[in-house]
Amino acid sequence: MPPKKRTRGPSPRRSSGQIRQTFLDFFRDRGHTIVPSMSLVPGGDETLLFTNSGMVQFKDIFLGTGRRPYTRVVDSQKCMRVAGKHNDLDDVGRDDSHHTFFEMLGNWSFGDYYKAEAISWAWELFTEVWSLPKDRLYATCFEDELGEIARDDEAAGHWVRQPGFDSSHVVYFGRKDNFWEMADTGPCGPDSEIHIDLGPEACNLQGVPGHTCRVNGDCTRFLELWNLVFIQYNRTGPSSLEPLPKKHVDTGLGLERLVSVLQGTGSTYRTDLFMPIIETTRGLAGHSEAQMLEHWTPYRVIADHSRAAAFLIGDGVVPGNLGRNYVTRMIIRRASLFGAKLGFEEPFLAPVVQTVIEQYGEAYPELAQNQGAILQSVTDEERRFQRTVEVATGAGEEILRETRQAGSDEVPGERVFWLFSTYGLPLEIFKDLAGERGLRVEEAGFQRAMEEHRRISGPLGVLAVRLDDLTLKADARVEAGRWPASHYQELLEQLRRQGTLPDSGVRYDPYGSLQFRSTLAGLITQDGPADSAAAGEPVVVVLPETHFYVEAGGQVSDTGRIVSANGRPWEIRVEDTQSPVDGVVIHLGSVVKGEPRAGDEVLAEIDAERRRSIMRNHTATHLLHAALRSILGNHARQAGSLVAPDRLRFDFTHPEPMTPAQVRQVEQWVNREILAGHDLAFRQQARAEATQAGAMALFGETYGETVRTISIGEPRISYELCGGTHMPNTGAIGAFLITSEGSVASGIRRIEAVTGEGALQFIRSRLDALERAAARLGVSPTDLDRRVQDLQAERDQLLRVISGLRSTVATEHFRQLAPQQVDGVPVVAGLIPEVGADELRRLIDRFRAVHPSGVVVLASAPDDQPIIVAAVTQDLVERGLHAGELVKSIAQQVGGGGGGRPTLAQAGGTDPTRLPQALALVPGWVEAHLE
Ligand SMILES: [Zn+2]
Ligand SMILES: [Zn+2]
Repeated sequence: MPPKKRTRGPSPRRSSGQIRQTFLDFFRDRGHTIVPSMSLVPGGDETLLFTNSGMVQFKDIFLGTGRRPYTRVVDSQKCMRVAGKHNDLDDVGRDDSHHTFFEMLGNWSFGDYYKAEAISWAWELFTEVWSLPKDRLYATCFEDELGEIARDDEAAGHWVRQPGFDSSHVVYFGRKDNFWEMADTGPCGPDSEIHIDLGPEACNLQGVPGHTCRVNGDCTRFLELWNLVFIQYNRTGPSSLEPLPKKHVDTGLGLERLVSVLQGTGSTYRTDLFMPIIETTRGLAGHSEAQMLEHWTPYRVIADHSRAAAFLIGDGVVPGNLGRNYVTRMIIRRASLFGAKLGFEEPFLAPVVQTVIEQYGEAYPELAQNQGAILQSVTDEERRFQRTVEVATGAGEEILRETRQAGSDEVPGERVFWLFSTYGLPLEIFKDLAGERGLRVEEAGFQRAMEEHRRISGPLGVLAVRLDDLTLKADARVEAGRWPASHYQELLEQLRRQGTLPDSGVRYDPYGSLQFRSTLAGLITQDGPADSAAAGEPVVVVLPETHFYVEAGGQVSDTGRIVSANGRPWEIRVEDTQSPVDGVVIHLGSVVKGEPRAGDEVLAEIDAERRRSIMRNHTATHLLHAALRSILGNHARQAGSLVAPDRLRFDFTHPEPMTPAQVRQVEQWVNREILAGHDLAFRQQARAEATQAGAMALFGETYGETVRTISIGEPRISYELCGGTHMPNTGAIGAFLITSEGSVASGIRRIEAVTGEGALQFIRSRLDALERAAARLGVSPTDLDRRVQDLQAERDQLLRVISGLRSTVATEHFRQLAPQQVDGVPVVAGLIPEVGADELRRLIDRFRAVHPSGVVVLASAPDDQPIIVAAVTQDLVERGLHAGELVKSIAQQVGGGGGGRPTLAQAGGTDPTRLPQALALVPGWVEAHLE
C-alpha cells in the first residue's frame, strides 16, 4: 500500500535530530542528568536478548539493589524488539508502523518528583514547546476492573488542572492497558498514557458497520504517544500490594511515532528518520518516485533492517548462528532478499548503511567509530547469503519439478516449509518462484508445519532461540551469592543502624594495599547471620572496608585470607569476593582454624602473588588492545575479556583470521612497549570528557558519571575507561607471549596470551620439549630443525622405494591373472595384495592398453580396508554394461558400496575376507548384463 501523504500537521517542520535534542534539553533544564543510551546488549543481564525499553539500564534501582548519584534522568535509549509479544519480524516493512530497532525517549525520577511534575511537564512539552493541539490530546488513567487497587484519581486530577485540557478527555482503563508490572512480584504501579486524535480521516475502518473510533480502539485514528508510569507499589503476592517508601516515575515516548506526528507524515517511514535511507536505496536502484511507491514494502524493509543492522554491529553484535548474532544475520538476509525484489543482484547494503551512520552518527558516536566494521560485516553477510540463496532456489526448483511431475498445480505446504526451515527461503519468495511457473502453494499446509515446528521448538521456531523470552527475571544476581539480594539489603540496613557500617555501605578500595586491618562486621553461616563460626564451616564475611577486588570488566575476584588480629587465633580462607547488592561486598570462604566471632579485629591479606599476576595480565590486555588497533585497524575492538592470574583472553572484532605475521607483529608491538617501561596514569574524570578525549569504553558495561581512566605512556599509547587493578609501569609485565589466535563467532577473534611468571613457564616448557627432542635425535637444539628435515627426506626416499617394490609385486600378480572369455568378451577379476586405489587404476590402464574391449575388476585390501575398482570399455558400455553398477553389486558382497561413471568406478567395503568370493561373481554378472 503506498503511503498516504498528509498535509495537516503542526508547523514549522522540525528535524528528528532537533526533536530528540529538544526532549533532552527540556528535561535537562528541569534538573535532569542526560544519560547516554546503554548498549543494545544489556550488560550483565543474561535473561534479556536485547535492551527493549528505557528501564533496562535502571532496573536495579527499582529493585533496590543499585544506586546512582542522580535522582532525575533523561535519555534516548536504543531498543530492539524482534519477536514475541512485542513484535513480529514478518510485520516489519509490511505496514507503516512496525520497526525492529527504535529509539525510546524517557524522563525518570528515582524517589524524586512524582505525578504532578511528570504530568505538567509532559503537557507543557507537548502543547507549549511542540504546539500539539490541546483539544486533540487524551489522557488514559487506571481504574481496576477487579476493584482491588485504588483508582488513580491523583493522576486524573493533575490532568484536568492542565491549562487548556478538556476534562472530558480523561478516559479510564483497567489492568491490561494502564497498570505496569515488572514481573509477578516486585515494583509496579498505574500508568497514564497520552493519546492523540488524528482526526476522522485517519480512521482505517471508516464505513465499517458498527465501528466507533475511540481511544485504545481498533482503528488508526487515535495514536498512543507517551506512557507515564508511576511506580508506587511493591507486589508481594497475587493480590497483595504494599506502598513503596520511595516512588518512581518512568516514562517512554517512542521517537519514531512522535516524529511522524510532529512532521505530519502519517507514516514513520515517511519521516526524516527513514527518508534519507530510503532515498539512498532509490538512487542505487535507479527508480523513479512512482517505481519506489510500487515497491514500497521492500523499501521499508531495507530501511528498517539496515538501520537495525548498523546499530547492532555498532554494539558488537556481528552476524552469527545463535541468539543475538542470529538476529543480526536474519535481518541482513531479509533485507538482502527484499533487495532482490528491487533488482539488486550484488551486495548493495553498504551504501545504505553508510547513510544510517551519517544520519545517526552524531547522536550515537559508536556508529561513526565502528563504521569500517559495520560496513564490512554487512557486505560479508550479504555475500554469504547469496551463496546459500542459490542452493535454496535450486532446491525450490526441484520441488516445483516434483509437483509438476506428480501432475498437480499445488505445491504441498510441508515441502515449502522444509525449504524454509532448511535454507531459510521464505514462503513469499517461494510463492514468487511457483507463480512464475503457474503453480500455487498450499499455504494451510505450510502454516500447519510451521505451527508444529513452533510447538516443538518454541514460539519462534526457525530462529532456534526463544526470542520472545524478553521478560525480566526478578534478579539475575541472586544466584551469585548464597543468599537472596533482599537479605543482603536487610543486612546492610542493619549494619548501618548498628553503626558497624557507614551509611554509604562498605568502603570498597581495590586500589589500596594488599594487607589491611579491619573488623569482622558481619558473619553469615549456612544458618544465616551468626555471632561466631566453627572450624571447617563455610562462611560469608562482611568487612566495613575491603581491598579485595570484586570481579568486573573481565578481571577475576581476589582470593586471600582473613585472620584474627587480637589474641584468640583463627583463620578464614577467602575463595571468592562478590557484590550481591550495591554497598555490600562479601568474602566467601571457610573457616580454616579457630572460631571467628562477629566484632573481632582482623588482618586481611589478599593473595599477593596471584593479584600481581592478574595485574600484569590486565595491563598487558590494555597494551594488546592498542596493538591490535594499531596493526589491524580501528575496527578491532574489544568484545570481551578474561583477566586471570595464569592467562589473559581477549576477544575482538575482526572479520578474518590474523596471519602468523600479524600475530608476531602484535606480540612484538606489546613487548616493545613493555620494554619501554611506560608509567601508567590513573585519573577520575567526567565520563563525557574522557570519551571526548578518545578513551575507549568497554562494550556492554555501564558507567557512572565519573569514570576512572587509565592511560599508558607519554605520548599516550593506550587510553581506556577501566576500574581494574594495574601495574604502575609496563616494565613490570616482564614478557608477553601469544599462545593462540582463533575464532569465537563470526567476525570475532580470540587471542590468549601469558605474561610474567606465566610467560616464563611457557618458555621453559617449550624449551624443555625442544631439548628432549634434540637429545633423542642426538643433536643440539639449534640443529634440530635441520635434523628433522633430513629425517623427513630419508623417510620420503624409503617410502618411494617401498612403493616401487609394491608396484612391481602388484604388476607380477596382475600378469598372472588370465582373462576369462564371456561371450567372446575378455573379463579379468582378481585380488592384488596391499596396494591403494591409484595402483589399481594404473593396472587397469595396462589392461585397457592391451584389450580394446573387455571388463576388468581389481581389488585390494591395504590395512584390511577393501577397495574395488572396475572398468568397462566404451564398446561394452554400449552393450549395456555399467562399471558403476558392476562395482556396486560386487561391493555389496563385502559390506560396502560405491559407484562411478559407466567406464570407471570405485567402491569400498568392510569385510576383506569375502573379496575372493565377491570377485568370483564378476563373469556371471557380465554374462547376465551383456546385451
Ligand atoms: Zn475509527
Ligand atoms: Zn581494563
